Amino acid sequence: MFKKLHTHWGYLSLVAAFMTFIALTMRFVPVEFLEVYPLLFSSPLIVAMIWLEKKDPARKDWLLNQGDFLADLIHSFVLFPVIVLLSSWLNRWFFTGFSIPTFQFELLNQSLALKFLVTLLFAELFFYLIHRFAHENRFLWRFHRIHHGADRVYWANAARFHPFDLFLTMTLYFFPVYLMGANEQILCLFVAINIVTGLLEHANIQYASRTANRIFNTSELHRWHHSTVAGEYQKNYGKVLCVWDVFFRTWYYRETDFVKEVGTRDDYSPVSNRLMAQMKQPFIEKTGQRGIYDVS
Ligand SMILES: [Zn+2]
Ligand SMILES: [Zn+2]
Repeated sequence: MFKKLHTHWGYLSLVAAFMTFIALTMRFVPVEFLEVYPLLFSSPLIVAMIWLEKKDPARKDWLLNQGDFLADLIHSFVLFPVIVLLSSWLNRWFFTGFSIPTFQFELLNQSLALKFLVTLLFAELFFYLIHRFAHENRFLWRFHRIHHGADRVYWANAARFHPFDLFLTMTLYFFPVYLMGANEQILCLFVAINIVTGLLEHANIQYASRTANRIFNTSELHRWHHSTVAGEYQKNYGKVLCVWDVFFRTWYYRETDFVKEVGTRDDYSPVSNRLMAQMKQPFIEKTGQRGIYDVS
């Protein structure tokens, strides 16, 4: 009974519990710390992910270290948080430093939840477009393929990105958030939902959530995005939500099937699992004649 509940509702319960906790406690946090406040709880969430992955893995062989774990840890705890915050602060500096006019929510007298939802939807559209472009543009693909080069999908490769890819994507992801005139509370909720759904997006947990798969970019959807099979990896480009994938007809889900193999099958060298090699690889790689999108 519990297993069935957990399998079908575990994803939504975790997201709801984390977001409720952040929403209820953020009023006690000084405004200047609100944006980084959810980061305090990323470690307990990671512990929960590791425990759930061990307890109920979607694929047992993905639990094993494939020489990628050390690099993924450095991505997760050093590079990823630093670059994401830099991307946000660059936008803040741009909007305040140049006095760029923003869409002032305050004038509309809306609830915080509605403001947050509209901001998230708008930001997700930007993410969808840049992510899709990173797959279709040969130059950007050289950087983005570092993320796709992983031979398994598990909690720690949620952060496995080349810094250039991550900085570009996150800067464009935060741009609409600031453009909408988001205050610190909305920024806090925005960071929080990205932490919890980002970890779940890659988590190797056996969830089968039909409801969540229609709203969020769950691991059930995102594993197909890591597939090596044409027709599967050009799908599910969303970050938190899958609504733009539904809108642009790139939503892909097979309820009774599981992705066969994950990784890259393009004409570049296989992506290294070593951190320094990953940093250098896009610059020293010979230009391929084809990108992943050409391979059948
Ligand atoms: Zn991708
Ligand atoms: Zn991924």
